[in-house]
Amino acid sequence: MRSARRRRFIALADRQRAGHPIHEMPQTRLPPPLASADLSRVQAVFTDVDGTVTSSNRLEARTLRSIEKLKQNDLRVVLVTGRPAGWGDCWLRTLPVDAVIAENGGVCLTRDRRGRFEKIYSESSSERLRNRKRLLREVQAALRQVPGARLSTDSPYTEVNIAIDYNEEAKLGPTALRALELFLKRRGVTIARSSVHLNCWIGAFDKLSMVRRFIRECWGLRLAKPDPRFVYAGDSLNDAPMFGAFSLAVGVANVAEVWSELDQRPSFITRGREGRGFEQLAAAIIARHRDPPLRAAR
Ligand SMILES: [Mg+2]
Repeated sequence: MRSARRRRFIALADRQRAGHPIHEMPQTRLPPPLASADLSRVQAVFTDVDGTVTSSNRLEARTLRSIEKLKQNDLRVVLVTGRPAGWGDCWLRTLPVDAVIAENGGVCLTRDRRGRFEKIYSESSSERLRNRKRLLREVQAALRQVPGARLSTDSPYTEVNIAIDYNEEAKLGPTALRALELFLKRRGVTIARSSVHLNCWIGAFDKLSMVRRFIRECWGLRLAKPDPRFVYAGDSLNDAPMFGAFSLAVGVANVAEVWSELDQRPSFITRGREGRGFEQLAAAIIARHRDPPLRAAR
């Protein structure tokens, strides 16, 4: 990206962080507002967690209430996150959601038609064991290259991925983050940046591959494009494959901060940041959707 264009994006993000509503900012390079999306046939909402339903790293009661309202209106809700399987286990048992796709698609936690807990992995147990050993070796080597770099505090609860903290407890600058990314890429490790972590894994999967599999195996349906039944909401670089695959792909307003780095972008953007943006999306879906509940295999 040319430097002048990049400076305009950075200025846009700075204005948004300073509290200027997104609708007051130049719209030329951002997608149309959420108000222009046809949400009348939505039956299921897939959403990222960090920076999309959380606000300043907290799940606020009002955002949780909007998830509850989606469920009360017979809409399906699936969390799609880079966070560990251990978090997914907790969320599936405590939040009003149908499934949690965790570790950037490495594992899906859901319930079968009889309500029994079920875990679906992207890879076989032998593949996971082999990849996990190599991944731990490569990530430890990367951490030794960059002073101050460390694993995320939730990495012990992962089964497939591992995460390096750059913006949660730690505050790594862009130079250190870039050095980690280059090192890991050269070693054949797949990386994806969320709003807080650099997620690392070895294996041919991502958020999108597991979402496609979940829709097929658990609901007996297929994700097509255009597909008015499914919405995806996200904010970060690890959401890019989802933004590209969903015709109703919605960025919460803070997605503008990574706009210049996204290789696949959302079709619509909310006025609100983080959880406020998700609440606006949920309210718009509930106000407009008319279709009966999803007729799924389970
Ligand atoms: Mg996020």
